[in-house]
Amino acid sequence: MPELPEVETVRASLARDLIGKKIKSATVTNGRVVRRHKSAKDFRTLIEGRTVKSAERLGKYLVFALDNGHHLVVHLGMSGQLLRAKSPKIPKPKHTHVDFTLTPAGELRYVDPRTFGELFVSVPPEEGVTVEISKFARLAMGGDGLGVRRRVPELAHLGIDPLEDQIGWDRFAAILRSRTTPLKVVLTDQDIIAGLGNIYADEILFAAGLRYDRPADSLSTIEIRRLHRSMTEVLTEAIKYGGSTLADEQFVDPDGKPGTYQNYHQVYGREGQPCFQCRRLIERTVVRSRATFYCPNCQA
Ligand SMILES: [Zn+2]
Repeated sequence: MPELPEVETVRASLARDLIGKKIKSATVTNGRVVRRHKSAKDFRTLIEGRTVKSAERLGKYLVFALDNGHHLVVHLGMSGQLLRAKSPKIPKPKHTHVDFTLTPAGELRYVDPRTFGELFVSVPPEEGVTVEISKFARLAMGGDGLGVRRRVPELAHLGIDPLEDQIGWDRFAAILRSRTTPLKVVLTDQDIIAGLGNIYADEILFAAGLRYDRPADSLSTIEIRRLHRSMTEVLTEAIKYGGSTLADEQFVDPDGKPGTYQNYHQVYGREGQPCFQCRRLIERTVVRSRATFYCPNCQA
């Protein structure tokens, strides 16, 4: 499933040439991906003729501001891809569910074999209506995340985005100390921390030297600081390599190019292979039906 670094890779790529373009028309061939709307026509009417003003990201959501104040929101789900096509003559890949025709030129296609992803248009809240922002996100001291939540109420429930929300280690500590659940569960709960899934939660916990099953409120100050730093470092590094593309999944950027961060994974997908730090074999377990990889020696 695409996580924060993969979604950020897509955002950065689209920001280069989608901003300033107009959505001339949209063709929806599978209504399931626009399921929040009454009909595909309802979705289309809200975006056709609109110009894209910006490309942002919050957690695993892409947010495109349109010139009428609405936002086109995309969640890639398990297997979603946004692919650019220079010309309509380029054949549409199988499982293309939405096709945007752009002015002056080009198309953007939403492809999703498993159809867990979705697209919707968010209409700004009416004047005087206050948006209830997640109590965790309200701890942010700065960054762009709060602005996105105010403009797109459907995303106001999202927890802290480790890169978009500025949160110092001390406020991060307050979040951890309020939870008794295992670290892996806290890190992958989108309402607490937005953007992490299986791969990056495991990689971050390894980098911080912490086991997946440590109760969040059991960490020492030093451990919290290490976890806070590892979160930023692992995600920033993964973005640098264009995210992770696994053998059984299909993440590619809008040009169809896979990421390469999988070559740098320390634990994820490495069950039975020696730890790069200590040579002990990496183990795999299941936490709340999620595969979890860790080094029994390096992570305490
Ligand atoms: Zn180890």
